[in-house]
Amino acid sequence: MSTIKINTNICLHCGEEGSIEMSEDEYNKGITAYNEGAFIQEAFPSLSADQREQIISGTHPKCWIEMFSPHRSQHE
Ligand SMILES: [Zn+2]
Repeated sequence: MSTIKINTNICLHCGEEGSIEMSEDEYNKGITAYNEGAFIQEAFPSLSADQREQIISGTHPKCWIEMFSPHRSQHE
């Protein structure tokens, strides 16, 4: 079983692309299920919620936290 790197969309928060590494087999099964209407958490049960969010929207876990943190970051 091989591991592949999935490039994710550009993050709306920092403008950078990202990537997630997971098994090719799991990704292929998951993305097929997702495209057929499965919930993302059912399609990718082994990923964390943060990683699923990154696959869908491209938002990095750390940026997601910053976006919804009650404390504003240094730069606006
Ligand atoms: Zn980001």
